[in-house]
Amino acid sequence: MNESMRVIYQTVLNRDPNQPEFHQAVEEVLESLGPVIESRPEYMPVVKSIVEPERIIQFRVPWYDDEGTLNVNRGFRIQMNGAIGPFKGGLRFHPSVNQSILKFLAFEQVFKNSLTGLPMGGGKGGSDFDPKGKSDAEVRRFCQSFMMELWRHIGADLDVPAGDIGVGGREIGYMFGMYRKLANEFTGVLTGKGMSYGGSLIRPEATGYGTVYFAREMLATKGKSLEGAKVAISGSGNVAQFALEKVLDLGGKPVTLSDSSGFIYDSSGIDREKLAFVMDLKNERRGRIKEYADTYGCEYTASSPEPNLNGLWGVDVDIALPCATQNEMNGEEAKMLVENGCIAVAEGANMPCTPEAIECFHENGLLFAPGKASNAGGVATSGLEMSQNSLRLNWSREEVDQRLEEIMVNIHKNTADTAKEFGMEGNYVAGANIAGFLKVAEAMEAQGLL
Ligand code: NDP
Repeated sequence: MNESMRVIYQTVLNRDPNQPEFHQAVEEVLESLGPVIESRPEYMPVVKSIVEPERIIQFRVPWYDDEGTLNVNRGFRIQMNGAIGPFKGGLRFHPSVNQSILKFLAFEQVFKNSLTGLPMGGGKGGSDFDPKGKSDAEVRRFCQSFMMELWRHIGADLDVPAGDIGVGGREIGYMFGMYRKLANEFTGVLTGKGMSYGGSLIRPEATGYGTVYFAREMLATKGKSLEGAKVAISGSGNVAQFALEKVLDLGGKPVTLSDSSGFIYDSSGIDREKLAFVMDLKNERRGRIKEYADTYGCEYTASSPEPNLNGLWGVDVDIALPCATQNEMNGEEAKMLVENGCIAVAEGANMPCTPEAIECFHENGLLFAPGKASNAGGVATSGLEMSQNSLRLNWSREEVDQRLEEIMVNIHKNTADTAKEFGMEGNYVAGANIAGFLKVAEAMEAQGLL
């Protein structure tokens, strides 16, 4: 990191010393921006400003469980940067949620949204509520209470949340219903909505599909493809399920899935029938991935108490798609992938690879796609949902998928070209950070750096 960036980074550390995830995300971006500031020193004030959220909202979320006991959770919305459009980014419901995690996600979102080419600023929010094991009625009461406060801070032209970990179609539905009642209006204030009330076809598929489109583009630069490739996928939620489906569409062979309890390794490949089982298991019955191994008689490994070292990345594969959560792959695990001959890694999740893992991929010449580029298909399609809501129109499945694919091809080209322009050919991390930054920086400067 160059000296001027280090001064800014030190300010971030001093201001919020207890936010390691946010520091990690900021450090990576500041490392990339050195060459930009050398050629455009006038952007220095932008960098100072971009690391500070425009606004943070924190609130109490009281809700009654089925026993009639009052529970109190914490709700947040981080409005990180609105220079190029309304704040946009998901809501996460997970017990680990805190300001550090949401600030890292909101910060990443600023660059990601810029890369899509659509007019969306960056934000993120959520709660430390754990939906696991809760009844449908409890989830509904929680979502309604959450929205009772959040509604006054969001709006179709102000801040448009979506889903993330623990927030899928069911939760978006409950929150949208409450917003509509409180605001007394029907607008596209949330994305990821159901098709009967303003949702977009392909939005559920978009993050996973987009990640695989990006991987396909990266592989093509080396004359390779997904055809016949063995693929490790982590997670078994929204992103993992549709990444797996697109891998199958493109002729690859997915062999792993996981949840927070463990992972399955199915050497015969996870085909469409098995994927349908996973979708029912995870989306309808809300069960554990172990049931897959019990049903299909494949290997199951329970998560080790050591974080990150559960062995999923020790499998012999050509391509890895981490699609679960942040820091789920460390340097040692990255080394195992390299030793097994893996040639490409595309992040479906946000920041799943630690800095050591990324360094290992770069040192060993693997193709590596950072989440802010490769998983941008989700928010891009949310942007398309906002457009359809404004137009009061629904586009067909083919039309949305085609736009998604075009956006992913463009993001790949833009990140690859930018990395080359700044002397870091093949480094998609630098390419994504710089390309995402330049558009936001121009807008912030033009608006007087408010
Ligand atoms: P889901 O809640 O649908 O699925 C998350 C999956 O990851 C589950 O299998 C979950 O297992 C697992 N997981 C979550 N936390 C942990 C943990 N601490 N340790 C181990 N496993 C864990 O979420 P999504 O699929 O929507 O999101 C996955 C990732 O993709 C996140 O990083 C998210 O930020 C990112 N992302 C999502 C987008 C979207 O459109 N949904 C858009 C862009 C990025 P379990 O059920 O046991 O908790």
